[in-house]
Amino acid sequence: MDKIISLAKRRGFIYPGSEIYGGFSGFWDYGPLGVELKNNVKQLWWRMFVQDRDDMCGLDAAIVMNPEAWKASGHVSGFADPLENGKMFNTMFSTSVGAAAEATTAYLRPETAGGIFVNFKNVVDSLHPKLPFGIAQIGKAFRNEIAPRDFIFRAREFEQMEIEYFVRPQEWESAFEEWRQNVHAFNEAVGIASGSVHEVEVADSDRAHYSKRTIDFEFDFPFGRKELSGLAYRGDFDLQAHSEASSVPLTYHEELGANTGSKNIFIPHVVEPSFGVDRTILAVLASAYTEDELGGESRVYLKFNSAVAPIKAAVFPLLKNKPELVAKAREVYAMLKKQIPQIMWDDNGNIGKRYRRQDEIGTPHCITVDFDTLGEKPELKDTVTIRNRDTGKQERVPIGSLRERIAN
Ligand code: ATP
Repeated sequence: MDKIISLAKRRGFIYPGSEIYGGFSGFWDYGPLGVELKNNVKQLWWRMFVQDRDDMCGLDAAIVMNPEAWKASGHVSGFADPLENGKMFNTMFSTSVGAAAEATTAYLRPETAGGIFVNFKNVVDSLHPKLPFGIAQIGKAFRNEIAPRDFIFRAREFEQMEIEYFVRPQEWESAFEEWRQNVHAFNEAVGIASGSVHEVEVADSDRAHYSKRTIDFEFDFPFGRKELSGLAYRGDFDLQAHSEASSVPLTYHEELGANTGSKNIFIPHVVEPSFGVDRTILAVLASAYTEDELGGESRVYLKFNSAVAPIKAAVFPLLKNKPELVAKAREVYAMLKKQIPQIMWDDNGNIGKRYRRQDEIGTPHCITVDFDTLGEKPELKDTVTIRNRDTGKQERVPIGSLRERIAN
């Protein structure tokens, strides 16, 4: 864990929040490479669960909601953890909205799901989706954790990726099974070691009363086996509670047969896959962190999947003080960057050092422009070397083939 935290800080993935003021417990800042990694993880999730499917749509609701919503959902009375003295402490952050006497106490959302339920009717009225369908949201959540710890695992400000998948009541088991598999498919796609993910059936006594089934997906973090994401069948608890509290019926109207005019009106049930962005990133970092020996030297590298790697390829001139090499390398760099934005330029130090630096941030390919590229050996003109991060092996390839190789 110490090695991961130190690499993350040193190479610009994740810094302690407000570090020059001594940090602030439970808050972390994502640096230049961290924000790329995080965006890649979120984009992959969005692509997989929203854009590539016909039965899903997205939402981006406000973080601060009408406090009545958190009363209805049970969070105001029950979102609490025990303190050392046994007293319960509500971990929702409260804030004050409006000026002076008119101020209302509101909350920073402790989970993104609430925004989905309160927009159920809006989405149904504007898109008329057919059941089963889901609404997905990625965004910040806040919990005043009593004991934030284990780096970004338990933070006070974090991000979630959540789905409420609405089904006819009798369909919940097949939807649950489908999402159980989807959770594994996503973990695999981001490069979380599949042998390190374990399903834990949450026992009746530990489940919320409205849930007939909940699975926690646990990962072997360096500090132990802990929850990475969750999957819960929530029945109609949330839509029912918000219907009652708001007096707006959150029902679904289903035609019983063509032209009969008869309708079945009911509250859909919901299956909820809930992912943590930061815990996913920690699991990705822990899965990717590798120490090995290459050419007789020990090295550290991040074995990221290309899809999440913050930098897809780095371009170097063999020597920085040869203007012809630099000019040609700049040309290759600009050509690639137009198509693939996550490309880096590096001309610092010798080639070996540059390779190590890129290995350490998980860059899958390093491209070097040398004298043969310029035509020193005429048959090699306009070719470059491309080095594989994991094997350290180099190949000579035409410049024209680079874009496709990296994109693939
Ligand atoms: P835990 O038992 O570890 O506190 P939880 O069961 O309260 O987690 P959920 O309410 O199910 O968590 O939240 C869904 C997901 O949000 C979790 O699986 C996790 O990935 C993420 N998450 C929850 N709390 C935190 C936190 N304090 N810091 C980072 N991620 C979190």
